[in-house]
Amino acid sequence: MATRKADVLIIGGSSIGLNCAYYLLKSGRKVTVIEADEIARGNAAGNAGHIVPSHIIPLAAPGTIGNTLRWMLDPKTSPFGMKVSLDPKYLSWLIRFALACSETNVQRAIPPLNSLGQLSARNFAQIIAEENFYCHYQEKGLLFLYKTEKAFASGQREAELMQKHGIPAEILDKAALHEREPAARDDVLGGVHFTGDAHLNPALFLKLLGERVRLMGAEVFEHTPVSGFGVADGKICTVKTSAGDFEANEIVLAAGAWTPLVARDLKLNIPVQPARGYSVTMSATKVMPRHALLLGERSVAISPMGDSLRLTGRLEIGNFDRIVSAKHVASIERSAREYLHLDENLDIHETWAGLRPTTPDGMPIIGRSPRHRNLILATGHAMLGLSLGPGTGQVVAELVNRHETAFDLSPLRVERF
Ligand SMILES: Cc1cc2nc3c(=O)[nH]c(=O)nc-3n(C[C@H](O)[C@H](O)[C@H](O)COP(=O)(O)OP(=O)(O)OC[C@H]3O[C@@H](n4cnc5c(N)ncnc54)[C@H](O)[C@@H]3O)c2cc1C
Repeated sequence: MATRKADVLIIGGSSIGLNCAYYLLKSGRKVTVIEADEIARGNAAGNAGHIVPSHIIPLAAPGTIGNTLRWMLDPKTSPFGMKVSLDPKYLSWLIRFALACSETNVQRAIPPLNSLGQLSARNFAQIIAEENFYCHYQEKGLLFLYKTEKAFASGQREAELMQKHGIPAEILDKAALHEREPAARDDVLGGVHFTGDAHLNPALFLKLLGERVRLMGAEVFEHTPVSGFGVADGKICTVKTSAGDFEANEIVLAAGAWTPLVARDLKLNIPVQPARGYSVTMSATKVMPRHALLLGERSVAISPMGDSLRLTGRLEIGNFDRIVSAKHVASIERSAREYLHLDENLDIHETWAGLRPTTPDGMPIIGRSPRHRNLILATGHAMLGLSLGPGTGQVVAELVNRHETAFDLSPLRVERF
């Protein structure tokens, strides 16, 4: 089979890959997308659809380990789980994660997460307006709900920290909360409203983005897994796929949790682990939530999406399979019922499991490979891979075109590991 030539070849056609394709095409580059499955699905289509520039505190933060241990004592409701394995890469990831749960890591992560989150939120609004995407996009903010004084106090402290970094946050006492969100049950005692956040239906957004990218001229190869690379003189000279070999001027690796597996020939240390989560999408309830919600004590995310309601939760480190656990889906629904007036019987439209590509320090990896001059890495967005997609797309296009990037990407380079 003859080797195909590409200008910019993107591996992975989900949230990050398609946003990169969009901004590269807009900048005048020719784009080829290689996707192992179908584009516009990946681990993003069934997610909560939250666009959250307010999320500037990384997962690896003080208190995470304590919370995790406490949760694991109550496996029935725990929002957290982890694989038991002696795989050295996995153990090294866990140790790195534990070491990163520090105030120093939080301070290091806030500037890049804030810059990328703000850029992305602006880009979402622009794409949706300019391209006329109908995807249930709502700029109504994200509302955290709390049922205990302790969690509410901790939510307020976090909100005050975020306000110092320019994130709009309103602290709502019980009366104000119930006025703003009538779907909340009477014993919800307060909330924090991050008014700069938004939400949408991720499957619709990605489908429209995939169609747009094709119309703009991208060549898309679906059901075409990348199986390896040929490297010579510090450059990737061949990308091997089930449809034959490709040569490309520039390559963007955006294969989510699978990135370290795809890159196994490349002698790069990319510490990304899958963190599985679940969603359940159901028919509308009589009193639909007005906002995208986060249940403070349960870490369950809720999104009204047109005439459906989606609940998402759980973070299970280390598992690559995407089998839906009925037990955990039931626990997510029980949690939602603790906070919201939901009809007794709701029709379930879909249950889903997805993998968040998670780094030990809670920051994505975006930057040129230290070993290959035509490779850019764009992965590790963990629970923010939808939210940070359009910002990542823009800065990756800037890197490919060797332009100045919208903000300093050096804290996100893979060399930090
Ligand atoms: C329950 C849950 C709720 C979530 N809620 C939110 C939310 O509200 N907001 C938010 O921002 N994020 C959320 N996320 C996280 C978000 O879904 C992920 O961060 C996002 O999917 C990552 O996007 P990605 O493009 O990097 O990777 P993926 O979506 O994993 O896509 C990677 C793509 O690469 C392809 N690929 C893999 N191997 C190969 C190969 N060898 N060759 C070619 N292609 C390959 C895959 O098929 C896939 O399409 C949630 C995740 C879960 C699980």
